[in-house]
Amino acid sequence: MASAPKKQAPTPAPKPVAKTAPVPAKANKPAKPAAKAAGKPEADHPIYDELGFSKDPNNLYRQTVGSMLEAAELMNLPHHLKIILAQPKNEIMVHFPVRMDDGQFRLFKGYRVQHNNALGPYKGGLRFHHDVHLDDVKSLAFLMTMKCSLVGVPYGGGKGGIKVDPYKHSKAEMERIVRRFTAAIAHQIGPDYDIPAPDVGSNAQHMAWIADTYSFLSEVGGLQPEAVITGKPVEYGGSLGREKATGQGVVDTLMVMLPEIGIEAKNAKFSVLGFGNVGSWTARILQKKGSKLIAAMDHTGAVINDQGIDAEALAMHVQKTGGVRGFKNADAASSEDFYRTKVDIFVPAALEQMIQPEQARLLNCKVVAEGANAPTTPPGERVLEEKGIEVLPAILCNAGGVTVSYFEWVQNKTCEQWDLATVDEKLNKHMVHAAEKTREARRKYKCSLRSAAYVAALERLRAAYEVRGIFP
Ligand code: GLU
Repeated sequence: MASAPKKQAPTPAPKPVAKTAPVPAKANKPAKPAAKAAGKPEADHPIYDELGFSKDPNNLYRQTVGSMLEAAELMNLPHHLKIILAQPKNEIMVHFPVRMDDGQFRLFKGYRVQHNNALGPYKGGLRFHHDVHLDDVKSLAFLMTMKCSLVGVPYGGGKGGIKVDPYKHSKAEMERIVRRFTAAIAHQIGPDYDIPAPDVGSNAQHMAWIADTYSFLSEVGGLQPEAVITGKPVEYGGSLGREKATGQGVVDTLMVMLPEIGIEAKNAKFSVLGFGNVGSWTARILQKKGSKLIAAMDHTGAVINDQGIDAEALAMHVQKTGGVRGFKNADAASSEDFYRTKVDIFVPAALEQMIQPEQARLLNCKVVAEGANAPTTPPGERVLEEKGIEVLPAILCNAGGVTVSYFEWVQNKTCEQWDLATVDEKLNKHMVHAAEKTREARRKYKCSLRSAAYVAALERLRAAYEVRGIFP
């Protein structure tokens, strides 16, 4: 679940309201075999067997790689690139003990998956969530490779995480957990090798502890060891505009794509699933463009107001209380009502696999802008397709975060500090360019925007592999 914006102090997770059905838990194992419920059966691929993939069509890793393979077929990507990209280069798992405030020790599990570094150092966030698994981290690392390629930054893809609920620990416990995790993976990361960042459940304070711990442990020392991580506080090497960057990128993408979907941002209605960093910033920035937030839902419940919800006020409420539940100027609603709400734009900004056929059938919107990573399952997407709902894929739509991470890294390495206008302008250029490349690929291959975004990402990777070759 997306965390409350800028929240650092641990907050007990608010209990779901009985009447307002909460956001369904991440559906690693959905109750029904979703693939059969919608339209065409799931496309199979010989590479699943060749590489020993899970046979479960609902497996997240199989689904994410499957979307890439669909695009790879369209563009005749050579077989060796398909298999290279279908598996990460390194999968690191660590276990480490941490002393709790009561003096007892607990053992934690951490991950770092390094998917690909053909275009540059591994890059991607660290997820702090009680339900994080290797398959999730692998999927998210894979998506980072695709995202970085599409948005034109000189990075590969990686992802990591700690199996921990950050809201159930004191600040002091979180500091020890984060520093000890950093020590456990310190030899596997580096400013020129693998550069982590925030993701669901982690924030700028966590990044500062990681940078500080790494600086102490780093044998290299010297200039800017804090470039080992991005999403840091502005006071310690962070970039202006990084905190809102993913939401800004979602809105930048919408501004390019909305006209051809026949939507005017001014007066467009939208709803948001997950009101953490990505959801709340998307809502606040979109509101500035004249669009109206009608409904929001997170792990605490759903709220709806047909007259419009002030996104700034809702963000403040979430920061104070930990969730959207209890927001005064809107009605509490069920999850079904939330999905049914008629809007122009629906922004899933929570976890993966939340839009399954069941949710897709309820949705009443013209476009889905994927703020989260992999929020729509392939069967869910087929339902959206049948309903004529356009999907702006995550590797395009939410690439703003890593783009400004890249700017932060460049600023660290050059000892510069850019102003916000510069950051926003450069971000916009990357987002517009990525959206144009996606549109171009769609025209060429007459495919979905998701396949088109993958084609555009794969083109850049193919070109790099062509000139680099495969060692030895
Ligand atoms: N976690 C974010 C993502 O999924 C940002 C990654 C980064 O900045 O490296 O895109």
